[in-house]
Amino acid sequence: MSQVPVFYRQRLLTPGPTQVPEAVLLEMAQPIIHHRTKQFQAIFAELSQRLSRVFRTKNPVLTITGSGTTAFEAAQVSLVKPGSRVLTISCGKFGERWQDIYDRYAPVLDIKENVKLDVPWGQAPTAAQVEQILKDKPDISVVTIVHSETSTATACDLKAIAAVVGKSNALLIADGITSVGAMPVEMDGWGVDVLVTGSQKAMMLPPGLGYVGLGERALARLEEVPVRGAYNLDLRAWLKGWKKNDVPFTPGVSLIRGQRVALEMIENAGLETVWARTRKLADATRAAMAAMGLKPISQSPSDSVSGAFYPEGVEDSKFRAALRDKHGVHIAGGQDGRGAKWKSSIMRVSSMGYVDAGDILVAMAAIEAELITCGCKIAPGSALAAAGKVLGA
Ligand SMILES: *Cc1c(COP(=O)(O)O)cnc(C)c1O
Repeated sequence: MSQVPVFYRQRLLTPGPTQVPEAVLLEMAQPIIHHRTKQFQAIFAELSQRLSRVFRTKNPVLTITGSGTTAFEAAQVSLVKPGSRVLTISCGKFGERWQDIYDRYAPVLDIKENVKLDVPWGQAPTAAQVEQILKDKPDISVVTIVHSETSTATACDLKAIAAVVGKSNALLIADGITSVGAMPVEMDGWGVDVLVTGSQKAMMLPPGLGYVGLGERALARLEEVPVRGAYNLDLRAWLKGWKKNDVPFTPGVSLIRGQRVALEMIENAGLETVWARTRKLADATRAAMAAMGLKPISQSPSDSVSGAFYPEGVEDSKFRAALRDKHGVHIAGGQDGRGAKWKSSIMRVSSMGYVDAGDILVAMAAIEAELITCGCKIAPGSALAAAGKVLGA
């Protein structure tokens, strides 16, 4: 950043945080109000209704202060039954995180076994795999799944997996952190018991809020299991507040105001329109990557983020620094996990939220220019031609 004159436009195309619309930034600059007031309650009530519509549920969506991980951890600790097993499914860095959380809490929550399904990075877990494990181990009380695994740009068939889990006694906690607001997710229609997202991905807000949608079976489970090992993360307290358009602890008031406006923008455009647009931007990104001869990282690509392996000879940190400093384009690299070491071998570009065709075209032109600088044999203009073809269609 330091070499870039401040008046150059910066394009933040990382898969979280993402760009925030100007109207949302302005709303968040409003003077702070106290949260135990009618004024705040009215804002919170409208936000909650909008959240339920965006989650496609008639049930509560709780707004929790913290990041996506806070919200997901809260669901994990609040819903597991003592003495039961859990099934934690991973195909990337975030799936591994949900595995680690249950490992860490196992003694406190009295978890009998953390059954781990590890799918190779770049592939998606299947409903058949989940069905088999649930058949073999009937005392699994919670299943965790990542709908859009951001670290590998991979989407699974959440609808099919929810259908399988719905036939068992287990609850499904789905990480929709880069799917809600970016690609089709039908919480009630698919029978997703718990759906989690965070504010800084497709919800067009800065980081700081996490959301937990609770379906009928999850609401019943909350009444059934005792509280162990959690205070701030106990969803019962958040649900109790939610019923009165309130929160148990001082909330992120300014973020909540901003989120109401961001969701108003999404709903005014139409959620389906936003999904279709996100898909088109991802299609354009993938077409440009293919035209540059880049190998995709995912065999089951998500529409919220697209990734490719670097060609031989491209050094990740230097490459991304050149994109930032010369072009004002910010993309993500890779992450290391148990399933793969992708820290310096991949690039990822987001198409979530407040991104437009111009952002993608500039990013693809910049990536092409810097790959050519690194010695890659690419005909100049190929990336733009490929992306433009999709975007113009
Ligand atoms: C970003 C992300 C998270 C983590 O969210 P934080 O807000 O960083 O805690 C979890 N899961 C997925 C799929 C993500 O993309």
